[in-house]
Amino acid sequence: KEKTLAMIKPDGLLGNYTERIKDVIVDYGFSILREITTQLDQDSASRFYAEHSPKRFFPSLIKYMTSGPVLVMVLEKENAIADWRTLIGPTDAYKAKITNPNSIRAMCGQDLEKNCVHGSDSRLSAQREISFFFEDVSSG
Ligand code: ATP
Repeated sequence: KEKTLAMIKPDGLLGNYTERIKDVIVDYGFSILREITTQLDQDSASRFYAEHSPKRFFPSLIKYMTSGPVLVMVLEKENAIADWRTLIGPTDAYKAKITNPNSIRAMCGQDLEKNCVHGSDSRLSAQREISFFFEDVSSG
């Protein structure tokens, strides 16, 4: 089985979408191996999204990601990485409402930035992101 890192971002937690998102996770056959609620600070959010540091939207992204607590989960199932990405839908939650109305971002996101959830995009990023939050979980 494969593991991926899923995160409910501050807008998802503030909007009380946690239970609905977890219902979808379980309905689609993922196991939630671990979960923590944590508050990212400037430093940890910048390290998590380091690949985006040169981008124009980076300061706004960091402000968003530190605006409240996040819920971070390790999900496991066959093909977990790709399946979770499919389930959350496109990055732009506004577009998701039109093109992927059944996706999680269509349910709880607002726009290109405030898209309520995160998912690792490859084996390499899943390994990096899982060990970022859960030092003791072997990411396989
Ligand atoms: P994530 O990595 O959070 O799962 P993603 O892989 O769909 O999202 P990335 O391109 O890696 O998207 O961007 C990381 C995050 O930065 C996005 O989820 C979104 O919150 C924000 N973001 C991406 N592009 C923009 C943009 N052009 N303007 C504002 N915010 C953006």
